[in-house]
Amino acid sequence: MLSDRALADFRAALGSERVFDDPATRRLYASDETPRQVEPEAVLFPASHDDVAVLVRVACTHRIALTPRAAGSSNVGGALPAPGSVVVSFECMRRVLEFDPDNRIVVVEPGVVTDDIDRLARSAGLFYPPDPGSSAYCRIGGNLAMNAAGPRAVKYGVTRDYVLGLRAVTGDGREIRTGCRTTKGVTGYDLTRLLVGSGGTLALVTEATLKLLPAPEAVATLRVCFNSNRAALDAVGRVMRQAVVPCALEFMDRRSIDAIRPTGAAEHLPPATQALLMVEADGAAQDLPRQIDALQDALTGPGLLDVQSGFDTASIARLWAARKSLSLAVKRIAPLKLNEDMVVPVSRLADFVEFIDATAHTQRLSVVSFGHAGNGNLHVNLMVHPDDADEMARAHTALAAMMQRVIALGGTLSGEHGIGTEKRHFVPQEIEPATLGLMRAIKREFDPYSLLNPGKLLPD
Ligand SMILES: Cc1cc2nc3c(=O)[nH]c(=O)nc-3n(C[C@H](O)[C@H](O)[C@H](O)COP(=O)(O)OP(=O)(O)OC[C@H]3O[C@@H](n4cnc5c(N)ncnc54)[C@H](O)[C@@H]3O)c2cc1C
Repeated sequence: MLSDRALADFRAALGSERVFDDPATRRLYASDETPRQVEPEAVLFPASHDDVAVLVRVACTHRIALTPRAAGSSNVGGALPAPGSVVVSFECMRRVLEFDPDNRIVVVEPGVVTDDIDRLARSAGLFYPPDPGSSAYCRIGGNLAMNAAGPRAVKYGVTRDYVLGLRAVTGDGREIRTGCRTTKGVTGYDLTRLLVGSGGTLALVTEATLKLLPAPEAVATLRVCFNSNRAALDAVGRVMRQAVVPCALEFMDRRSIDAIRPTGAAEHLPPATQALLMVEADGAAQDLPRQIDALQDALTGPGLLDVQSGFDTASIARLWAARKSLSLAVKRIAPLKLNEDMVVPVSRLADFVEFIDATAHTQRLSVVSFGHAGNGNLHVNLMVHPDDADEMARAHTALAAMMQRVIALGGTLSGEHGIGTEKRHFVPQEIEPATLGLMRAIKREFDPYSLLNPGKLLPD
């Protein structure tokens, strides 16, 4: 329970109009994209770095836990309020502080929507490569905390690769700056890389200096159908072994194709299609035909059924239609999607997908897998009925088996969604005790009172 004194101190620090403890607001901020709810004690809306610094000091005085929140699209409980905590929403911190095309950088507050950064960059012939599926509404603060990524990661990397420096407030109120404004810099320890991906557990980020790249002149797309998961994933291996790096290499498994059939989105695919790859190349317009030829050569092999190419906006959109229909299509299977993101080495993808199929069969579950195959990153969606306790128990058994297999195959528990509340009990399977001990010591140094996003990322 938040004391009257603490509430009054937050109001004095931020102004009453930035502190809400009414039931409607608390309900509104009780969940993220994880199917659980925990009402926070209050919701704070800082408008500047100074607001954040002062609210952390109030939280320290009263020992109140803080749950940072950007757009609330985390699907691992990252922004789910810790019990008894106060939510710090960064929605009002959405200024672009500096846009410097000459040096290809942009300095933003954490509440800026990811697509808006890309739009701004493109106005000067540049682009911001990280492209999570939620980029139309997720915010850069959430992307930084989760090290978000999307299809372009196979060529351009992840959020962490585009962060030059940060301004932040630690859990005990220290105001810090990390990194620099240049694309080279090795002064001191790399705290920028440490904070990116730390899930809001070490510091509240109040500013980010991001690197931009020249926008590619043109894009071309291939939609490639195969008669089995293994045939498609073997082709992924061949693509990743040759010199042309695609800017997207997306996979849909047999169950994904089954899911879109009733919607009509599979009509243009050969009837024998059991797996699909979406492959994209970008760069100078005159270079694209050469890139597409090389990719097509690599994709050709056993089990290939059909290749369609697109070089203009309309035909590219047509080719992506089957993939884009998937999110809605899976919702018809069951009311709840347990969306797990896991990574294995590219060469082990086919083995992993076979394991998923076998586990789904044994546990009598509907499991749809798709994802960023060029990074070995699969989204494994267990489609379940939350009121069916037996099915939920089987789903959790299946998940535990899949996590174990991911580690055994040399992979990692999460490629982009992060750990949050949902996967932290699996973390000791991947990280050995000595390394975990060092991580806990880092947490204590940044957040000695354990106020920042408690119950996330590290296991108890
Ligand atoms: C339909 C859909 C598609 C998605 N597709 C992708 C995808 O392709 N790739 C991908 O990576 N993810 C994806 N996600 C997951 C999610 O969108 C990402 O994790 C995203 O980065 C979260 O951003 P957000 O603004 O919603 O942050 P939130 O969910 O609000 O917060 C995410 C984390 O950031 C912390 N945080 C927020 N702001 C700050 C701050 N200023 N300082 C410190 N910590 C902070 C929060 O505490 C939380 O731990 C998807 C989610 C959905 C619902």
